[in-house]
Order: sequence, then C-alpha cells, then structure tokens
Amino acid sequence: MNIVCLDLEGVLVPEIWIDFADLTGIDALRATTRDIADYDELMRMRLDTLARHGLGLPDIQAVIDRMAPLPGARAFLDRLREHYQVIILSDTFYEFARPLMRQLDWPTLFCHTLETAGDGRISGYRLRMADHKRAAVRALRELNFNVVAAGDSYNDTAMLGAAHQGILFRAPENVIREFPDFPVTSEYEQLSDTIAEGFARS
Ligand SMILES: [Mg+2]
Repeated sequence: MNIVCLDLEGVLVPEIWIDFADLTGIDALRATTRDIADYDELMRMRLDTLARHGLGLPDIQAVIDRMAPLPGARAFLDRLREHYQVIILSDTFYEFARPLMRQLDWPTLFCHTLETAGDGRISGYRLRMADHKRAAVRALRELNFNVVAAGDSYNDTAMLGAAHQGILFRAPENVIREFPDFPVTSEYEQLSDTIAEGFARS
C-alpha cells in the first residue's frame, strides 16, 4: 500500500506569511526563520504584530481566503489522489490553512493549532509535536505503508530522509546542494512521474 506525504507551502500553496504580508502591506510579517532563527521568538513577533494591527482570526482568514493554491496544484493533487492515499504534512496551522484546504477539496492535513481568545484574538499556538513530519512518515512505515515524500525546504529534509523515497520540489539552490541524494523536480508532471518511480523502486 502506497502513501504520498506532501509538504504544503511551496509545494501546493504559496508561503502563507509572505502572501499575507503582501496582501496586508505589513512588512514585519515577511520575516522567516532565516531572519529570526528561534521559532518561538518568530511566532511571538508575528502574533504581536497581528494584535497590534487589530487583526483577529476572522480578519486573518478573510485575507487568506483571497489566496489561491499554486497554479496547477489542485489538478495535480486530484490526479495523485486517484492513485494513492495522500497526507499533507505541514508546519502551518489548521486555522490558517482552512481557506486553502477548501480550494484543494479538503485533503488530509496534519499540522499545528492556534489558540484564540473569545474575541477572535490569537493568544498563542500549539505545536502538535516536535519534528512531526518525520514522526508521521516513520509511523506510516511501521504500519507497513510504502512512503514517498516531497517538499521544498529545510524543514522537509528529515521527512524526505525517513521516506522510502524523498523528492525535492522547487527547492532553493542551497537545499539542493546540501541534499544531493534527493531527486529534484520543478513541475507537477515531473513530480508525479518521480513519485511513481519512487514507488516502483520501494
Ligand atoms: Mg514548504
């Protein structure tokens, strides 16, 4: 039995924080772990910035509702789901991903959760577990599934390494250089073919 595990941002949808910064003009939200290495510090800065601009969860979801999956992502995912079980493993939050999941026809998503106060203000966040992408792939393998995983960034490489076959999709040069063992893909058709090859080998 074959399962495909896919990263979300950069693979099926745009980087949510970057698009959010573009749509709202709030430049501070453009910061990533490259700018603030400590994830907790980065998230606190983001949540403080949202609160300062008076943006509660409904406002944020209204902005995310204006985002769309990457061109071709929906068709790619639909075709993939005809052939395999697909699980999306992401470091985003369910509350943010929801408007985009609707546009992708509600695929299975494992990610994290936000804590909101009664007035819609985001009061905090809860990571489901540390290193959850790799843990999910390992658990699926223990359940006797063949797993092919694809992602675009550093936070995917542990998941790619844990799978029977890991695949890079639209990854930046530095990631491609540091992880030369993973096949590199840039178009959905090529990714589909490489997934099929991965299962053929596993
Ligand atoms: Mg990504």
